[in-house]
Amino acid sequence: MARRLYASRTIGVDKNVWVEFTQLAADYKAVNLGQGFPDFSPPQFVQDAFCKAVSGGPQMHQYTRAFGHPRLVKSLAKFFSRIVGQEIDPFEDVLVTVGAYQALFCAFQALIDDGDEVIIVEPFFDCYQPMVLMAGGTAVYVPLRPKGDSTVLSSGDWVLSAEELASKITPRTKAIVINTPNNPLGKVYKVEELQMIADLCIKHDLLCFSDEVYEWLTYDGAKHVKIASLPGMWERTITVGSAGKTFSATGWKVGWAISSGKLIKHMKIIHQNSVYHCATAAQEAVSHGFDREYELFGTPESYFQQLPAMLHQKRQKVASCLRSVGLQPVMPEGGYFMITDISSVRDTKNESYDFRFVKWLIKEKGLATIPVSAFFSPEHSKEFDKYIRFCFVKEDSTLEAAEEILRKWSQKE
Ligand code: PMP
Ligand code: GLN
Repeated sequence: MARRLYASRTIGVDKNVWVEFTQLAADYKAVNLGQGFPDFSPPQFVQDAFCKAVSGGPQMHQYTRAFGHPRLVKSLAKFFSRIVGQEIDPFEDVLVTVGAYQALFCAFQALIDDGDEVIIVEPFFDCYQPMVLMAGGTAVYVPLRPKGDSTVLSSGDWVLSAEELASKITPRTKAIVINTPNNPLGKVYKVEELQMIADLCIKHDLLCFSDEVYEWLTYDGAKHVKIASLPGMWERTITVGSAGKTFSATGWKVGWAISSGKLIKHMKIIHQNSVYHCATAAQEAVSHGFDREYELFGTPESYFQQLPAMLHQKRQKVASCLRSVGLQPVMPEGGYFMITDISSVRDTKNESYDFRFVKWLIKEKGLATIPVSAFFSPEHSKEFDKYIRFCFVKEDSTLEAAEEILRKWSQKE
């Protein structure tokens, strides 16, 4: 059979860092600070809500409204209206999706045309690039760069040049994609940085896709600001969120997109013709979670206070472990990842690049991490292949097992 049986949109987007490194970590039974998921349970109140939903009658096991279970879209609209400072219509302005992944996919499919250019700020969550390509668009990259020399210690020192960003805008540019707090760097964009991006979006009539899945995880006084809340941005921003990150339940795969109904209605078309909706009981449970958080917002009982407080300790633990073995962490202002420069140790026979180094670390030392160049475009990946990413949303015992591996290794060298 001479005919090619597959579609060309699958060409060149086959590699996936999660598929590759999650398998490798499992094969070698490595201590896993690689893939970003908590190795502890979600808080009791959402687990209870899930159990209650599952035993809550026949309708909890059947189809619900395609664009989001009514109870959940109402909870999300109520919760986020207060944050965005904008009356959010639960039925027009919210789309519940199968994780943040599908919210992003619907955004690219519904809003990007053949030949459109999409500016992606690097480092970026890896799926943005294949999603742009599969929508027929062209990805254009602008990296955050560490300012100054190698004494950089905080993700806040990685900055976006306004001139460089502006220079990438052409008449074909349709959207700018940002991720704050950023995966893998942990950067939390300051309001001035968001304003600079917003000004360009407004000036050139662009959309902004803002991936905010780590919105509750900020440290040392860093404040997460939604770009959609800046003047003139609501109607041109798609804000993406994830219950997986919000309630430490990545396997539930509940996410959402929030924007003006004028944009959401096009995303609904992609959604209704692909997955239709996501699991009813999981949506019901997430809705209870948000209602609880609405009532407790800003109090010490709120999970949105407790989770970052717990992660702050873990962040300190991993940072001091890295320092004790001579690795300099870039302290994240948000999220649950930390990157570190491996130039001082990578220069052994086997490995010259982060991918090889991470493979070696898994196979030889039993510790899984993620190579940071996976979060850069081919044109910039070489510049940033001296970093690896550690995930710290893990039990203390997991972090201690990782520490033990690093200690032993550094003592032998
Ligand atoms: N965006 C970012 C920045 C992420 O790190 C992830 C990974 N969880 C996602 C989106 C996808 O989220 P979800 O698991 O809800 O699909
Ligand atoms: N978002 C997760 C991370 O950055 C992983 C996503 C995935 O495994 N596909 O680690």
